Amino acid sequence: MTGTKKNIMLTPGPTPLPPEVLAALSRPILHHRTEAFGEIFQFVLDAMRRVYMTKNRVLMASASGTGAMESAVVNLLSPGDEALVYSTGAFGDRFAAILKAHGLSPTVISEEWGHAAKADKLAAALKQHQKTKAVFLQQTDTSTGVLNDIKALAAAVRANSDAIVVVDAVSSLAAEEFHMDDWGVDVALTASQKGLMNAPGLAFAAISERAWTLVQSARLPKFYFDWKTYDKSLKARETPYTPAVAMVAAQAEALKLIEKISLKGMWKRTAVLADYTRAWARKNGLELFATDPAHILTGVRLPDGVDGSSMLAEILREEGISIADGQLNLKGKIIRIAHMGYISKPDLDAGFAALEKRLAKVQAA
Ligand SMILES: *Cc1c(COP(=O)(O)O)cnc(C)c1O
Repeated sequence: MTGTKKNIMLTPGPTPLPPEVLAALSRPILHHRTEAFGEIFQFVLDAMRRVYMTKNRVLMASASGTGAMESAVVNLLSPGDEALVYSTGAFGDRFAAILKAHGLSPTVISEEWGHAAKADKLAAALKQHQKTKAVFLQQTDTSTGVLNDIKALAAAVRANSDAIVVVDAVSSLAAEEFHMDDWGVDVALTASQKGLMNAPGLAFAAISERAWTLVQSARLPKFYFDWKTYDKSLKARETPYTPAVAMVAAQAEALKLIEKISLKGMWKRTAVLADYTRAWARKNGLELFATDPAHILTGVRLPDGVDGSSMLAEILREEGISIADGQLNLKGKIIRIAHMGYISKPDLDAGFAALEKRLAKVQAA
């Protein structure tokens, strides 16, 4: 019965893996305090610097992207510090929730879902909150497929405040154009399972010298995620605790592929698939959800009367194709088609065919 089923993921993480990456995941496990592992780990950190477009230090922990987000909060801030979150969706709201979980009271400004953050609104908020230590942003909020202009937003922070700029690039890195150093980003966070074409399980943070001075004085409690501990282990090409060694080996393979295609080639590939998906939506009379759409993911509104949740469940059950539902109040109302990482045009075509078949049935009824 499952023989004819495909296994296609059009989801914004996890994403499908290239064969070279899958092969690396099945190789014998290396001990993490060995020369052999150290070499792979060092390559991953160096290649990550090239993907981030930075000369800054890059740290890695075994965790999902939310772990990277929490590590930024606890390593940058102290009790009573002022922080500002500019939320454009569920992941911006998650930053606010993490800050609150650690006893802080962030200022939260937001946009209606689907709309990008505005530099002038951020500037005005910072003028009102002069003591802000850190501003938290998403490059792409995966809940809606919106793209925020990090270059303009970071410039607005620089011009109006001494706050550092923390960017969640979990779903965008290696897929959307990003220049950490040129854009003046202080902390950039990501994870392995999206644009980086690896299995879930690795979290990365690139940290500027400006941000590192905050790290040295930050007093929020932490242990596993203490960046100073990770930094100390770098000299020995190690992590302080046992890392997800198989995932590190796999990440090295994925980064080699990214370098083979080139970073620009990766950005282009994502953009081409985004255009292709938007054209498909238009051809089928479906409205795009985001007014400022990202290339990593297309959010599409479903016609009234279509129950998206049950349609997507049926597509997965009958055809083995995963497509993401809307989140929270968009559940059942939009679908999210990812085109990041190793997702290919044939994968998208299979998803489009499955959707068309079911939408036609609804429209005929
Ligand atoms: C996926 C994602 C995260 C992290 O999610 P995890 O499930 O913890 O890996 C954070 N931010 C954005 C924008 C994401 O897309």
